[in-house]
Amino acid sequence: MIKVLFAGGADRWPTWEAPLRAALAEAEVQADLSTQHPPDEVDVIVFAPNPDLTDFRPFTRARAVLSLWAGVETIVQNETLTQPLARMVDPGLTEGMVEYVTAHVLRHHLGIDAYLRAPDWHGDAPPLARDRPVGILGLGALGAACAEALSRLNFEVLGWSRRQKTLVGVSCHAGEDGLITVLERAEILVLLLPLTDETADLIDGAALARMPRGAALINPGRGGLVVDDDLLSALDGDRLSHATLDVFRTEPLPQDHPFWDHPRVTVTPHIASATRPATAAGAIAENVRRVAEGRPLRHLVDRDRGY
Ligand code: NAP
Repeated sequence: MIKVLFAGGADRWPTWEAPLRAALAEAEVQADLSTQHPPDEVDVIVFAPNPDLTDFRPFTRARAVLSLWAGVETIVQNETLTQPLARMVDPGLTEGMVEYVTAHVLRHHLGIDAYLRAPDWHGDAPPLARDRPVGILGLGALGAACAEALSRLNFEVLGWSRRQKTLVGVSCHAGEDGLITVLERAEILVLLLPLTDETADLIDGAALARMPRGAALINPGRGGLVVDDDLLSALDGDRLSHATLDVFRTEPLPQDHPFWDHPRVTVTPHIASATRPATAAGAIAENVRRVAEGRPLRHLVDRDRGY
């Protein structure tokens, strides 16, 4: 019997308990799931940052920490966490992100805001998606799904990742030159990178200056990817027409932050997508089963890379 500790925060246990028990049973894993195991008896920790668990050293026999979240930039900074760490890849989370990104790309592509303000009877129809280049920085679980969905809508999609990828209908790029290619083409740019030492402040004044004049930015990745002041200058200087921002350096976004009142900024409160217990429990059960069978974890975090 494998001992699984739910350490995702006491307030989350009621929503996770039933889906996790059902998924473990479906995966035919003999697991004792609880919020109360003695630390030195725990085999697997299901985890989200919370004040009740900050020191992983007493978990001497734990063979895996399974994050409830996709973004692990704060978790990897915990030096007491030396056990293998897996991040969350959840079909429901991915589906939600595809919907958010598609909605905001279509809003900017079709110029919907202009019709909401004042319909112009003599204006032109918006261009077709086939004529709109969209860039996606980050082609992981979320970025790749968004890129493929936008490609199916006929957008010209350019993607960028650390390693070279191959995705149907997506022009994939890597490396510094690849980034420049994507920035220079993208009339709508979507950020789905993790926050790491390498990606922090990536979207600064120089990067924004490479984008086509009037481009739009959509950031459901992490606030630290973008230099706020440079983004505001790009919006004020007409380089960018709009920024839709879901994530911020400080969350909740402070009331006095200029993003709130900027006419070219849309703030959404970190709701682009969320881990859904009904679908994510299966991903956790799969990794618990792998621990039980001594097989490698899925979606293992590389501590050196930071994601
Ligand atoms: P993922 O599967 O780990 O994918 C990350 C992607 O970023 C990969 O394609 C990776 O390249 C690329 N990348 C990382 N560092 C890079 C670098 N230095 N240069 C170029 N590409 C780099 O992550 P995910 O599940 O798609 O999630 C992405 C991020 O979305 C999360 O880290 C989190 O911050 C954010 N998120 C936001 C919300 C929200 O509601 N707003 C919800 C969930 C997640 P390789 O493929 O070559 O490794």
